[in-house]
Amino acid sequence: MNFLNHEQTLWKDQVDRLMEREIGREYIRNCDINREYPYKGYEAIVKQDWLRLLIPEDHGGMGGTIFDYALLCEGLSKYGFDFATAFMVSTFTAMNIVKFGTDEQKEKYLEPFMRGEIRFSISISEPQAGSDAASTRTRAIADGENYILRGQKLWCSGAAAKNVVIAMLVRSDPAAKKREGLSVFLVPNDTPGLDIRRLPTMARRATGTTEIFVDDVKAERSQMLGTPGQGWPIITDHLELERIAVSAGYVGNAQQAVDDALRYAHERIQFEKQIFDFQVIRHMLADMQTKVDAARLLVYRAADMAVRGENYSREVSMAKLFASETLQEVTRCGMQIYGGHGMLPESDMERYFREGMQSTIGGGTSQIQRAIIAKSMRI
Ligand SMILES: Cc1cc2nc3c(=O)[nH]c(=O)nc-3n(C[C@H](O)[C@H](O)[C@H](O)COP(=O)(O)OP(=O)(O)OC[C@H]3O[C@@H](n4cnc5c(N)ncnc54)[C@H](O)[C@@H]3O)c2cc1C
Repeated sequence: MNFLNHEQTLWKDQVDRLMEREIGREYIRNCDINREYPYKGYEAIVKQDWLRLLIPEDHGGMGGTIFDYALLCEGLSKYGFDFATAFMVSTFTAMNIVKFGTDEQKEKYLEPFMRGEIRFSISISEPQAGSDAASTRTRAIADGENYILRGQKLWCSGAAAKNVVIAMLVRSDPAAKKREGLSVFLVPNDTPGLDIRRLPTMARRATGTTEIFVDDVKAERSQMLGTPGQGWPIITDHLELERIAVSAGYVGNAQQAVDDALRYAHERIQFEKQIFDFQVIRHMLADMQTKVDAARLLVYRAADMAVRGENYSREVSMAKLFASETLQEVTRCGMQIYGGHGMLPESDMERYFREGMQSTIGGGTSQIQRAIIAKSMRI
């Protein structure tokens, strides 16, 4: 299946070449086994200048489209969604700064981000604020011109890596309506008062996800992104870009799961036959590829709408829902095709399977995506 024009095909091939020649599946597997942030892989992306892709040209970027970006996310997720997450989480916040940042913030953060000197993480979730993300309790308390941040955040991916600036959602006005009293602050991860701990999660072992204790952290007014109370529109904007990126990533990872399972089905001999010769296995593979193709079409449709400037919130939720459930399903089938060998890290399938299990939770659960889609349906 290829709906891409010549330039897009060349772009996809270029990303693929980087994955094969400079990053590779063994590197990604080892980062997962050792729970190591993929600094070397991130650096390889920086060297290509691909952190500039989405940033507008007048800010030193390439001014690429969301479609180009989706193809990049698909390609980088090939050997594991977790690896691409390191790159993706950084770009969502960089784009928030492009849209909502002051000139001073753009000057301070965009060029160092594009050079790979700083990265970003997004910290929305809290112990009591999951799907109901706006029920944020972490406070920003006015202190003269500045603020004191106090509370606890949860699941902040990539926040324990080197040189990270965390975009943190906080409640700045407890008297305002739930979504109107929120703001976002840009907080470097070495700020005194932050205690960031990596969590021993089943998936996302390399990029890592964290809990953050926020103990009277001093934040200057200049660290606020946007205006007071603008937190929710910033987060909504953030999540839309996140959903297109992760959906493309799930497709990239799911395609690799199908390719690996197909190859294994040809290599594995039982009852003097390749297991591919058993119809039940062939049909499983046929269903797997069909679902991946369907997921890819949904992602490309949403990306295309984004490029055209159309409202794509319903379509991106469909892409997120279907691509994540596809990754989960094809990796579960992949595990079955691999038999016992799928349980070993060398198969990579168990890692893809773990990524699949987190894909229907992070970035808004499948239940929340269905709620968004249903809300958009009219008789
Ligand atoms: C590996 C990983 C990385 C993450 N990275 C980040 C990150 O970088 N930054 C960040 O801010 N957050 C991050 N998250 C958090 C993620 O966004 C939340 O886990 C997610 O939004 C769900 O929240 P929850 O886990 O608290 O589940 P809950 O909201 O408690 O949901 C529990 C169950 O109830 C269902 N449910 C809840 N509300 C409804 C409803 N209205 N209708 C129907 N069903 C409902 C859910 O679908 C789910 O099945 C990450 C999570 C994981 C697992």
